[in-house]
Amino acid sequence: MRVLVVEDEEPITSAIERGLTKLGYAVDTAFDGAEALEKATVNSYDVICLDLNLPRIDGIEVCRRLREDRYTGSIIMLTARSGIRDRIEGLDTGADDYLVKPFAFSELAARIRAITRREGGLREPVLNTRGLELDPNTNRTRRDGREIHLTPKEFALLYYLARNEGRAVPQEELLEHIWDEHANPFTQTVKVHMNNLRRKLNEDFGEQLIETIRGKGYVL
Ligand code: CA
Repeated sequence: MRVLVVEDEEPITSAIERGLTKLGYAVDTAFDGAEALEKATVNSYDVICLDLNLPRIDGIEVCRRLREDRYTGSIIMLTARSGIRDRIEGLDTGADDYLVKPFAFSELAARIRAITRREGGLREPVLNTRGLELDPNTNRTRRDGREIHLTPKEFALLYYLARNEGRAVPQEELLEHIWDEHANPFTQTVKVHMNNLRRKLNEDFGEQLIETIRGKGYVL
């Protein structure tokens, strides 16, 4: 799940970024409206947290242009104004939800969970395959009924492979979907997480679930 946080107040941006990263989201940041639109054109986001008061292009206008450009992910407006008119304007231009500042981080996290569940009810189902049970709402992982404890990144890797079962997924595609823009494509990041994931998955189980296909990627 990839999130863009758009907010010009640096302490707020980095607090949200830290919190969401800890929960296993891939997080990018933008500090003004123009940067937000640029990033949304280049990357595909599941959720955009969008401050209303932004330099260069304000949040309402960003929201309007995102929807015009057929952005189909979720938008949560962050607003210091609690006026009913601003809320209605935000929702009218295509926001899915809004939060009035100051808000507790846990509330933002809950809204993101709720919104992605609502929209992604069909997009992110519990997956059952090859003895695995993967619940993206709780990150709960079971193999043959036995619980396996995965980190959020390991879970995201496994879930992505399970969703693409039978297809060799290139490392770059995993980086694009599961990591954020700071991930260096030339490092061993994917490999290291993949090794840990495999070790946990195969402990006490005979069969390897994830295969490496040389030059092509990973396949479940
Ligand atoms: Ca602001």
